[in-house]
Amino acid sequence: MKIKSNVHTHTTFCDGKNTVDEMVEEAVARGFDTIGFSGHSYTPFDTSYCMKDVEGYVAAVKAAKEKYRGKIDVLCGIEADFYGEFDQSLFDFVIGSVHYIKRDGEFYPIDESEKSFDYLLNNVFGGDFLSLAENYFSAVTQMAEKIKPDILGHFDLIAKFNDGNRFFDENDERYKKIALDAVDKIDEKIVFELNLGAMYKGYRLAPYPQRFVLDRLCELNRPLVISSDAHDKKTLGRYFDDMADYLKDVGFSYVKVMTKNGFKNKKIR
Ligand SMILES: [Zn+2]
Ligand SMILES: [Zn+2]
Repeated sequence: MKIKSNVHTHTTFCDGKNTVDEMVEEAVARGFDTIGFSGHSYTPFDTSYCMKDVEGYVAAVKAAKEKYRGKIDVLCGIEADFYGEFDQSLFDFVIGSVHYIKRDGEFYPIDESEKSFDYLLNNVFGGDFLSLAENYFSAVTQMAEKIKPDILGHFDLIAKFNDGNRFFDENDERYKKIALDAVDKIDEKIVFELNLGAMYKGYRLAPYPQRFVLDRLCELNRPLVISSDAHDKKTLGRYFDDMADYLKDVGFSYVKVMTKNGFKNKKIR
């Protein structure tokens, strides 16, 4: 069983390290049939990582689509932040993500660094992780309703720096309930992703979402799309096959794979 598609990838148009063509060439070399780009939507209050030249990005991906036609399908998507600005009509697909907590008119990054997460939890929320979790997962469900993305990005990003329960107890039943209530509120047309981003960066030993969330998704018969959230060409497909085995262990029999004609089911057992 081989997964040959990855649609959560970043380039030098946002905070990625490689160009569109470098990423496509790597995907071709790996025998992929599909690569989708998902540049970060413009967030005016934080321009440190997002796309400033969306027109240039769309043009570059379009050019790659033509250049590599017959070798690989290239899709032009966007990773739309809940608070970002973007024109949905320009894109083949949308990943919807929440990267900020908004509190009293201020935006606080969730995944920027351990230090900024520490500040968010302990200063902005006074150490009350349940209140932070309520705020975060409520933003996730609002984002899903507002943007109606094809893919829900890194569902529990709030746990990025929490390996070993460093900041809060992920086994706390109250935390689990907040997260699972959010799962239940998300339209079943929206596909959750199994996101390897924090694993590549060495923050987590397991992908997002956490296991208890996967168990619920499995119960609800909602297969996931595997994506690496690649910020460079090296991380384009590493661990993909292990992750299919991991999902099989949870109890899934299918994953979703994005193609130029939309999602297809792929059997993993
Ligand atoms: Zn993201
Ligand atoms: Zn991303």
